[in-house]
Amino acid sequence: MSETRPAVLTGGCQCGAVRYALYREPVNPHICHCRMCQKAMGGPIAAYAAILLSDFTWTRGAPKLFDSSSIVTRGFCGDCGTPLSFRFGDDKWLGFTLATLDEPDRVVPTRAFGKESKRSWFDGIHNLPLTSADDELPAEMKAKLVSYQHEDAN
Ligand SMILES: [Zn+2]
Ligand SMILES: [Zn+2]
Repeated sequence: MSETRPAVLTGGCQCGAVRYALYREPVNPHICHCRMCQKAMGGPIAAYAAILLSDFTWTRGAPKLFDSSSIVTRGFCGDCGTPLSFRFGDDKWLGFTLATLDEPDRVVPTRAFGKESKRSWFDGIHNLPLTSADDELPAEMKAKLVSYQHEDAN
């Protein structure tokens, strides 16, 4: 790693085996409802922004790659499975998953794609009864809880 520029944003997977840094603010922050993203995330949406590869480095490890189609390669941690990246062929732009940022509120989506696959229940999620993880976990489980998730590096 010969990069000397200060990182603008950093992030990584749940276990910490794969970490990355951006050296410029990303562009095109968006969510995607498409069926490919749903499968890749195991959730109703993906949230990505794009960065030029010349402004991005994997600072620890590297993602395992899966071609989800003839034009797209997705990267994820081979140890813990966290979805990390999205790239069209050999494009100079790389998409990275917004929720893997150490400061996940720093980049805010401004567009949504994949209308055709938006789940029928998605619009109702803001009306669900909302509790905190702390409210839900029984005291005896809380007492035993040790997180193995890699700490966000602030
Ligand atoms: Zn990992
Ligand atoms: Zn998608």
